[in-house]
Amino acid sequence: MGSEAVAFSRPLIAVEAQAEIERVLASGWVTTGPECTAFEEEFAAWVGAEHAVTVASCTAAIELSLRALHLPEGAKVLVPTITFCGAVGAIVHAGLTPVLVDVEADTGMVSPATCTAAARACGGADAMVVLHFMGYPAPVEELAEAAGLPIWRVVEDAAHALGTYVDDRQVGSISKSTCFSFYATKNLPIGEGGMITTDDDELAAWVRKARLHGMSSDAWRRYLPGGSWRYSVTEAGVKANLSDVQAAIGRAQLRHLDQWQRRRADIAARYSAALADVRGLELPQLPVRGRHAWHLYVVRVKPGFARDRDSLTEHLGAAGIGTSVHFIPLHHMPYFRVVAETPPGGFPGADAVFPELLSLPMHQGLTDDEVDTVCAALIEANTHITAQEVVQ
Ligand SMILES: *Cc1c(COP(=O)(O)O)cnc(C)c1O
Repeated sequence: MGSEAVAFSRPLIAVEAQAEIERVLASGWVTTGPECTAFEEEFAAWVGAEHAVTVASCTAAIELSLRALHLPEGAKVLVPTITFCGAVGAIVHAGLTPVLVDVEADTGMVSPATCTAAARACGGADAMVVLHFMGYPAPVEELAEAAGLPIWRVVEDAAHALGTYVDDRQVGSISKSTCFSFYATKNLPIGEGGMITTDDDELAAWVRKARLHGMSSDAWRRYLPGGSWRYSVTEAGVKANLSDVQAAIGRAQLRHLDQWQRRRADIAARYSAALADVRGLELPQLPVRGRHAWHLYVVRVKPGFARDRDSLTEHLGAAGIGTSVHFIPLHHMPYFRVVAETPPGGFPGADAVFPELLSLPMHQGLTDDEVDTVCAALIEANTHITAQEVVQ
């Protein structure tokens, strides 16, 4: 031990992507154009949605999906307190008020009960961002109902959920608007990028305009034979389009996605088998219904373990094993304490679960040997405490 290094995450880019990038660079068109259109069609088919619209990031996808609801300024949007800060930033940038929702201590996810409580405490929610945390399916429709919202007021943050199924329905085809990320660590890494999927023709058309300054015709269509230089703007948009170079990488990656998802499930099963009997370590649950996308493999370091989460993280780090924590609750951050509404009773669920959360290395390129190295290090960390550590 000590010399092996196991990265928490490593972006795996298909070798064909290089030739695809060169093809696009040589084509004379590098920004949003035919490559993005092809990626959108192939992605929509993969998730089973009518439309997919490329955008610059999942954060932009969430902001645009919320803007598309045309809610009044300051309208209230429920969001879990255990999520990525960008998801809440998107609510603020859409001109809306985030309302932080507590999570259940046993799952780390919001429940119908916590959604109902948060909606009541804020005097009624106007919309909700549902997170499929780690890739575990969140019951979108039940949560919407518990919050007193119709399904079209729900935006799904599917940054972890490419390949997740809620019951027999794939994420991307359930609510009106689902947001995916192609950030370097996500299940389909491009480096940067995002996608909105929807079955709603109007929403898709609106996002296509809004992602590029609100212009009525994008540059690609203006330059097509017979295209016109004319365009107009009827409302403010943002600059959040994807480039054809990124889309070319995405298309090459998508051809490997089925295989990569199977690999993630195998890695999760290997972890769970090797760690099943480790005292004080609680392992992630498989969904009773639906399918886990295994974006993250999150264990809980319980009081029965020989070290607490933070000292375990340091110990693994010293052994060359990268880990992470998803996520620091947003109510622990000064900015969100100011801009977000928080329930009077605080966040007992999130505060209980946060100190125990530990994300182990998980990516499609992780080898069996690397998984075994991580498991051996965890088992060792639970049994051998050095004299020096005891003194501390
Ligand atoms: C990564 C992530 C995002 C943001 O994705 P970007 O594409 O980087 O904007 C949003 N929500 C969650 C839960 C994430 O993990």
